[in-house]
Amino acid sequence: MTMNVRPVPALDAEVNDIRLATAEIVNDDILPAEDKLWGWMAQGAKAPKAVVDEARELRHGIQNKVKDSGLWAPHLPREFGGMGLTFMQHAFMNEVLAYSPGAASLFGVVAPNSGNQKILVKYGTPEQHDKWLKPLTEGRMQSAFSMTEPHNPGSDPRSLTTRAELDGDEWVINGHKWFTSNGHAADFYIVMCRTSEPDESGGRNEKMTQIIVPKDTPGVNIVRGVPVWGRGSSHCEIVYDNVRVPRENQLGRTGTGHAAAQDRLGAGRVYHCMNSIGAMWRAFDLMVERIMSREVHGGEKLEEKQFMQGFIADSYMDIQSARLMTIHCAEKMESGADPRTDISAIKVFVPLAYHRVVDRAIQVWGAAGVSGDLPLAGMYQGARTLRIADGPDEVHRILIAKNVLRRYHAGESWDFGN
Ligand SMILES: Cc1cc2nc3c(=O)[nH]c(=O)nc-3n(C[C@H](O)[C@H](O)[C@H](O)COP(=O)(O)OP(=O)(O)OC[C@H]3O[C@@H](n4cnc5c(N)ncnc54)[C@H](O)[C@@H]3O)c2cc1C
Repeated sequence: MTMNVRPVPALDAEVNDIRLATAEIVNDDILPAEDKLWGWMAQGAKAPKAVVDEARELRHGIQNKVKDSGLWAPHLPREFGGMGLTFMQHAFMNEVLAYSPGAASLFGVVAPNSGNQKILVKYGTPEQHDKWLKPLTEGRMQSAFSMTEPHNPGSDPRSLTTRAELDGDEWVINGHKWFTSNGHAADFYIVMCRTSEPDESGGRNEKMTQIIVPKDTPGVNIVRGVPVWGRGSSHCEIVYDNVRVPRENQLGRTGTGHAAAQDRLGAGRVYHCMNSIGAMWRAFDLMVERIMSREVHGGEKLEEKQFMQGFIADSYMDIQSARLMTIHCAEKMESGADPRTDISAIKVFVPLAYHRVVDRAIQVWGAAGVSGDLPLAGMYQGARTLRIADGPDEVHRILIAKNVLRRYHAGESWDFGN
C-alpha cells in the first residue's frame, strides 16, 4: 500500500507541493525498495558484501533524486545546503517522509546530525561552520551529541558533572557519558560540559557549555556501544579523561550550553512528533490492509469483527488527536507565543498514541506483526524508547501541571483557544 497524500486545503501551495513531491519519492522509490535498503541490517557484519553494496547504490540513487527535486535537508537554511523551509513547512514535510522508517536519512535529515547541524548554524562561528558544519551537511563527516551520564539523571540536565576547565587556551574535559548515539561513526562529539566557577556562582541556567570534541582526541575512550533492546548499538558509553581541545571549540558564549540544549529539544520535539505521526499513518494503513484481507473462522473477514472495528476507530482517534495537538503546538511556536506547555503535552501524548497505534497493528497481524518482515516491531521499540529519550513522561507531566497551576494562581484560567 502507498501513502495517500493529497493537497490540504488549509495549507499554502508551496507546502502542498513539498508534501506531494516527498510522497512521490516515498511511494515510488523508497517503499518498493525498503527490503533491499534496510533488510540486510539484521545480519549486521555477516551481511553479504554484494547486498550491502547494492543497498549503498540504491541509497545514493535516491539521495540524488531527492537533491534534484530540491527536497534535501529540510531542516537547514539554503546557505548551508538545505531547503530553507520555515518551521511549519518542515513539520508538515516530516509526517510524509516518516511514513517509511529510515527514509529521513535519504532526505539528509537524520538524528543526531540534524540537531547538531542546527546548533552549529545558530551558535557556531564562521570558522566552525567551515570546519564542522559544512562537511557534516555534505555527508563527509558524522557527529554525535554527548550529554547524558550514567551516574546522574538525564531528566535533570542541571545535575550533569562532566567538567571542562580552562588551561590557557585549551578546555580540559573530564567526565563519563553514555547513550551518545552514533558514537562509533561520529567524527566529532558535541559534549555538554559544566563550565561554571567551582563555587557554582552565576545564573541557574548558565553553568553549562557545549564543546566540540573530535573523536580522535587523546583521552576520548569509547567504553562500548550500550546494547539496546537486546542488540548491539552505536549508543556509546564514553569516558573523557583529561581531553584537551582548543578554546575555540566551544559553541557560543561560555554558559550557553543549557539554552542551546533547550533550542535543540524544543523544535526537535515537534519534528519527532510529526515523525511519529508519519509512522502511525503507516502502521494504520498496514493494520487496515490486514483487517480487510485476513479471513478467520470459516471465511469471515476480520473487518466484520467488532473488536477489529474498535481498533480502527481507536487508532483513527489517536492519530487525529496526536496530529492536531502537534500542529497546534507548532503554530504556537511559530507565532512566538509561549509553547512550553504544549511541547510537554505532545512529548507525552504523541509517543503514547504511537505506542497504542502500533500495538494494535501488531495484534492484528499476529505473529507477522512481531516478525522482521514488517516495520511494526521496530516502530514498537521506537515508540517505547521515545517515552524516555529527550526527557521522560513524568517530567513533562509535572511541567504541564506547574504551568497550568501558575496561571490559575495568578487569577487567570486556561484559554484552550490559544
Ligand atoms: C535510544 C536512546 C538514545 C539516546 N540518545 C542520546 C544521545 O544521543 N545523547 C544524549 O546525551 N542522550 C541520549 N539519550 C539519553 C536520554 O536523553 C535519557 O535517557 C533521558 O534524558 C532520561 O535520562 P535517564 O536515562 O538518566 O533517566 P532518569 O533521569 O534517571 O529518569 C529515570 C526515570 O525516573 C523517573 N523520573 C525522573 N525524573 C522524575 C521526576 N521529576 N518525577 C517523577 N519521576 C521522575 C521517570 O520515570 C524516568 O523515566 C538516549 C536515550 C535512549 C534510550
